[in-house]
Amino acid sequence: MQTLKLYETDSYIADFTAEVLSCEKNGKTYDVILDKTAFFPEGGGQSADIGSINGVPVIDVQINDGVIIHKTKSAVDSGTASCKLDWNIRFRRMQNHTGEHLLSGIAHEMFGCTNVGFHMGNEITVDFDVELTQEQIDIIELEVNKAIYKNVAVSVDFPAEDVLNSLDYRSKLELTEDVRIVTIEGYDVCACCAPHVKSTGEIGLVKVLSSMRHRGGTRLQILCGLDAFEDYCTKANNLYEIAVKLCAKHNQELSAFNKLCEENNELKQKNVSLANELISVKIKDPQKINGISIYFESSTDMQFVRNLVLESAKLHKGISAVFSGKDENYKYAVASADSSVKTFGDLLRAELSAKGGGSDELIQGNISASKEDLINFLNKVEI
Ligand SMILES: [Zn+2]
Repeated sequence: MQTLKLYETDSYIADFTAEVLSCEKNGKTYDVILDKTAFFPEGGGQSADIGSINGVPVIDVQINDGVIIHKTKSAVDSGTASCKLDWNIRFRRMQNHTGEHLLSGIAHEMFGCTNVGFHMGNEITVDFDVELTQEQIDIIELEVNKAIYKNVAVSVDFPAEDVLNSLDYRSKLELTEDVRIVTIEGYDVCACCAPHVKSTGEIGLVKVLSSMRHRGGTRLQILCGLDAFEDYCTKANNLYEIAVKLCAKHNQELSAFNKLCEENNELKQKNVSLANELISVKIKDPQKINGISIYFESSTDMQFVRNLVLESAKLHKGISAVFSGKDENYKYAVASADSSVKTFGDLLRAELSAKGGGSDELIQGNISASKEDLINFLNKVEI
């Protein structure tokens, strides 16, 4: 027997009583079948409702041949059950789903877009088969929000076959009977089985967060209603914190940030030239142990360490070696312009358990040894 779907005719039922027809263990969960339900099963890009049956959590809901299966964590007794949806989640989905209808209806009407994909998870994506420009997306977004302010009715009905045949509606389904038509007055007519809000005002807000080209069309990431409001709050709070740090006035955060980026680039360039100057001074007078040019450095910037060892190798015959950081936690770079450093690297690995490797000209990595151990090694090493 097919389950009576309460959500099809009234999407605002959050609490209801139903008869438990069966409850069977299925792996780690239980499959509960009711005579009627307001739980929307996963489908059409929308996740399943969650909630409880007689206080037992419902963690998933699926539909199979018209029978709705509620997955519960533990068994539910037969008889009359008190059922409850997680209304916060359900209402947000109704806002998002109705917002998607409105967006798709307007995109269809204005730019001939067909909705070819819809997914509602942590983010909502809507795929259109038309490559939209940013300007067109902005126009659609504005029109969607104007339609929200008009607060027009969203109605649901099951038209008779002859009415359906003459009706022009968007459809993702190839159904021929019991087609459920969701109409947003003046904006959209679409076949859909999911719960929606009853007027566009309840959507509250639709915001396009991003767009990208996708399979010859456009994928939009959107948020509606409370999800969009919370996203706005997060972004506004983040921007406020940034503005305070940048000492930027309201709405001047971006120019302040761009200025900071410019300053940062200038500082990076200055840093590079200062580092090069420092390297040219350092390589003039390295510590020499066993014919090896040695540098112990505090900086762990590997770019600096590499440049220092390579410049040293150009100036001095034999091997140059830089150890940067501190005892038991050194980074190293070893180079030579006139001999291979591979043997030296092998010995470092064998005797001091160094990690890393490289080419004949340059090796680099990490080494857990003290400065004393390193100096002893350098004094004894035969290369
Ligand atoms: Zn829908």
